[in-house]
Amino acid sequence: MADLDIDWSTEAIIGRRDKFYAASQRAFVPYKTPLIFARGERQYLWDEAGRKYLDLLGMNVCISVGHAHPTVTRAVEEQIRQLQHCTTMFYHPVPAHFAEELAARMPKGQDWVVHFTNSGTEAIDLALIMAQSFTGNIDMLALRNAYHGATIGAQSLTGISGFRHNVPLLGGVHHIANPDPYRGIFGDDTDAYLAEIDRTIQFATPGTLAGFIVEPIQGYGGIVELPKGYLKAATKKVRDAGGVLIVDEVQSGFGRTGDNFWGFEHHDVLPEIVVMAKGIGNGFPLGAVVARRDVAEVLAKKFFFNTYGASPMACAAGRAVLKVIDDEKLQQNSKTVGAALRAVLDRLHQKYEIIGEVRSHGLMLAVELVSDRRSKTPATKETAEIFEKTRENGIVVSKSGANRNILRMVPPMCIKLEDVAWVEEALDRCFAG
Ligand code: PMP
Repeated sequence: MADLDIDWSTEAIIGRRDKFYAASQRAFVPYKTPLIFARGERQYLWDEAGRKYLDLLGMNVCISVGHAHPTVTRAVEEQIRQLQHCTTMFYHPVPAHFAEELAARMPKGQDWVVHFTNSGTEAIDLALIMAQSFTGNIDMLALRNAYHGATIGAQSLTGISGFRHNVPLLGGVHHIANPDPYRGIFGDDTDAYLAEIDRTIQFATPGTLAGFIVEPIQGYGGIVELPKGYLKAATKKVRDAGGVLIVDEVQSGFGRTGDNFWGFEHHDVLPEIVVMAKGIGNGFPLGAVVARRDVAEVLAKKFFFNTYGASPMACAAGRAVLKVIDDEKLQQNSKTVGAALRAVLDRLHQKYEIIGEVRSHGLMLAVELVSDRRSKTPATKETAEIFEKTRENGIVVSKSGANRNILRMVPPMCIKLEDVAWVEEALDRCFAG
């Protein structure tokens, strides 16, 4: 076939993007002019002009072990050469091994079963089906400020109204106050947040629940961690009402917090259902629902089939990710580098009045920007200006939160201590103006 006469210049790419991409996807490109990346290696990225960046976003927490990691690349290459796809009608060893390895990463005390999907959204939907089928109940509790995905089911659970469309969403979802000591409506009064759960359950039909879905550390919401004691007490209330606990580990899992492999392990609870995606595949499309055997097997009574679930290519990437996390001690690295980055953000907090709060756990970090520390008014416009400067200073971060006033950093877990000085110098220049 003859080569098409295509103009690959930046202007032409932007032109095509503006002409052919859906407006919803265009609108999400966050900088004033699009940034076009050409290549990535571990924690670094290069744009098409050859300029180097430090990726503090990990392509939205997907690049867990680093861009173009040779172990992941090799595993996927080998799998592509052997067998690209095996539908879930048949067995394949790669997903079978991977399921076993994932189950081994879960806490002891119950038997875990793994169900693969293609994305986080799809896994959230499946978790919802499991919770409702298993309990025979409908009502769900979810937190305001949480993001869980984009299908009708996942969108219905999402607590940020800007991500919900004006279409009929699922009934029976109760969004409850976010236990955020900084911005939540009950401040740091954990008991008040728990009391709201009691009140909400009374309104459920008829006082029963299918479950409670929660991110142990809210990602897009701005790295908001559940207060100590909240999840354990909330889980008891949910179980007393007949429901199950679903934890969304799409951003907080795989050792990124430095202390534990899963975010929920900081809270002394054993969930019935754990949802994971993003970093599980280091960029390859993959998600999973890992659930207690009796909860997961409720699906076997009917049928749950997805053509690309348990893709051998994506699962080969997933197996390599687990190996690299161990071989390179990336959980420990997340703790060490996370602490150094936290110290940088604390120093900036001292220096710049606009930083209202610093929040972090391992390699999940955020600064919330406010125009006045006492009123905590979101500094949305200033955040956009500072965000634009991060690009000029060669660091990639995310502008997050319902008010878009939070700079979120979730770098690949292979980021090094040597990179921290770059972050401090770059952020200091961004805030200095
Ligand atoms: N849950 C959380 C916590 C997420 O951050 C996301 C994605 N941002 C999802 C679910 C949905 O995952 P996906 O985009 O892979 O569908």
